[in-house]
Amino acid sequence: MSSILHRVPGNKLPMATGGAGVWLQDAEGRRYLDASGGAAVSVLGHGHPRVIEAIKRQAENLAYAHTAFFANEPSEALAAFITERAPRGFGKVFFSSGGSEAVETALKLARQYHVARGDLTRTNFIARRQSYHGATLGALSVGGHTARRGPYEPLLAPCRFIPPCYAYRNLADGETLEEYGLRAANALEEEILQVGPDTVAAFIAEPVVGATLGAVPPAPGYLKRIREICDRYGVLFIADEVMCGMGRTGRLFAVDHDEVSPDIICVAKGLAGGYQPLGATVLSNRVYDAVTRDGGRFEHGHTYIGHAIACAAGLAVQQTISDDGLLDEVARKGPLLKRLLQDRLQPLGVVGDIRGRGFLIGVELVEDIATRRPFPASAKLNGLIKSAAMARGLIVYPGGGSVDGVNGDHILLAPPYIVSEQEMEEIVDRLASAIEACLPARVA
Ligand code: PLP
Repeated sequence: MSSILHRVPGNKLPMATGGAGVWLQDAEGRRYLDASGGAAVSVLGHGHPRVIEAIKRQAENLAYAHTAFFANEPSEALAAFITERAPRGFGKVFFSSGGSEAVETALKLARQYHVARGDLTRTNFIARRQSYHGATLGALSVGGHTARRGPYEPLLAPCRFIPPCYAYRNLADGETLEEYGLRAANALEEEILQVGPDTVAAFIAEPVVGATLGAVPPAPGYLKRIREICDRYGVLFIADEVMCGMGRTGRLFAVDHDEVSPDIICVAKGLAGGYQPLGATVLSNRVYDAVTRDGGRFEHGHTYIGHAIACAAGLAVQQTISDDGLLDEVARKGPLLKRLLQDRLQPLGVVGDIRGRGFLIGVELVEDIATRRPFPASAKLNGLIKSAAMARGLIVYPGGGSVDGVNGDHILLAPPYIVSEQEMEEIVDRLASAIEACLPARVA
């Protein structure tokens, strides 16, 4: 009997005991192909010797020294590594222990930026529906994930929501993707005008929407237009790259694909690839300068920020990605995995859309391909597929509510960057078998 409050109490989970490469193993010796890197975390897979060695070395030297008293070498080195490769004008990093903390940090930085400039009325945030930015109350307040907001709704800070940029479901007849991208972005301007331009602190969005929509990249021109609108009204643009950043899309930062420079970027998951809990908020000089002008300081902190072992792990992960040319591998193999999925899954007759960038790929399942009608939420199809996949030794990340927060099923794939082509074929075979096994749910 476990003493842990598990996510689903009473659910008997296999005990993970080991991992090597893209495989995880449980106490009974069963092996699982980790096709989603957990929740898009394990960028180098499991048991990577270079990262393990870096963690050991750092633990022997220095595990922890509080950042109110000391700087430490791994956090300085990792911050320099990140800022050297971030979009131009991003010169500072604030480390934390995960994605939610990285987002909290960004929200507070945005507010402090405006306070420092005397713009005291800027208290509103605008975000998008069907998004996720974290579980803590601030991050949850700006998240458009209906189920996760659920019981906490009365506790959440006010936030305005615009629709996501989600071409599969919102492209109008005869509209080009570029036209749609502009139309979707213009919703931000309408919202800013409605709430009052002088009251808006920041707009937050995932450049490629992760788990909530299932790997949806922006339409061409969408983020550029978002940038223009933010500039016009003095609103900061926070890019939440917790899931899509650190190489997951084939570039280190997802916004690099769209040639857009936000004001603040949040990263986590792939930063240390699950070897240590680590998040980071990357600041543009514009934000840093405003907050620190005239002796100002950022009124924020956690006990474990800049943790030496966590940063040493992050540095080893990032150096490995760079030295082993893994960004190019993701850019090359992502489209290949998509093609394999298309060939193998389309014949099942329930795949409405396969999308994504690099190794962040979503498969949206529909009951009727012509009308895009989703399966009834009561069928819980995505959850059934998760279980069927696990029974076949495959880990995928299921999601529901893609259509409207309640209806819609998708499966997210986010394999480690080191996955081989043979393993990708294995992923696709096992996933096809799992989906097929669940299709009686259509008539449930
Ligand atoms: N932002 C995005 C885009 C995420 O996908 C997540 C987690 O899935 C978070 C923030 C929160 O990160 P964490 O779970 O590490 O707190």
